[in-house]
Amino acid sequence: MSNKTLAIIKPEAVEKGYSGKIIAMYIEAGFKIKAMNMTHLTKPSAEGFYAVHRERPFFNELVAYMTSGPCIPIVLEKENAVEDYRKLIGATDPAKADEGTVRKLFAVDIQHNAVHGSDSDENALKEIAHFFSSDELLNNY
Ligand code: ADP
Ligand code: MG
Repeated sequence: MSNKTLAIIKPEAVEKGYSGKIIAMYIEAGFKIKAMNMTHLTKPSAEGFYAVHRERPFFNELVAYMTSGPCIPIVLEKENAVEDYRKLIGATDPAKADEGTVRKLFAVDIQHNAVHGSDSDENALKEIAHFFSSDELLNNY
């Protein structure tokens, strides 16, 4: 059964011009793009998106970073999407990410780590709903 995950190309990766290369890696790995947008998150929107991390010491920095410039949220679909996408992007800290992963190739450090990925099917649906209405999802191909 195919399922969905939410990717975000984060502000520093957009700014550096890596978006095209990163999207090409998603497509080459077999993911279908079901929705995509370019947006500049407001502070309340970023705080809401990362609400699960609000008690973490890096929360304020994370919100400042994610509101620092445009980002590109993308809904990806594939069998086993959540797990396969997290394998494709590599560990949160690029120093620990496997060779050839998106974060190994494009991330700067544990905070500026190029891309987001959902961590479960349940959270993927919540995160997708943060950025896209149901009629923005391409369900017909
Ligand atoms: P992931 O994005 O791999 O699911 P987390 O959900 O743990 O990682 O963290 C969310 C985001 O918060 C990370 O992608 C990264 O941008 C930032 N972050 C995580 N850990 C740290 C840290 N120790 N210091 C600074 N920023 C961090
Ligand atoms: Mg996470």
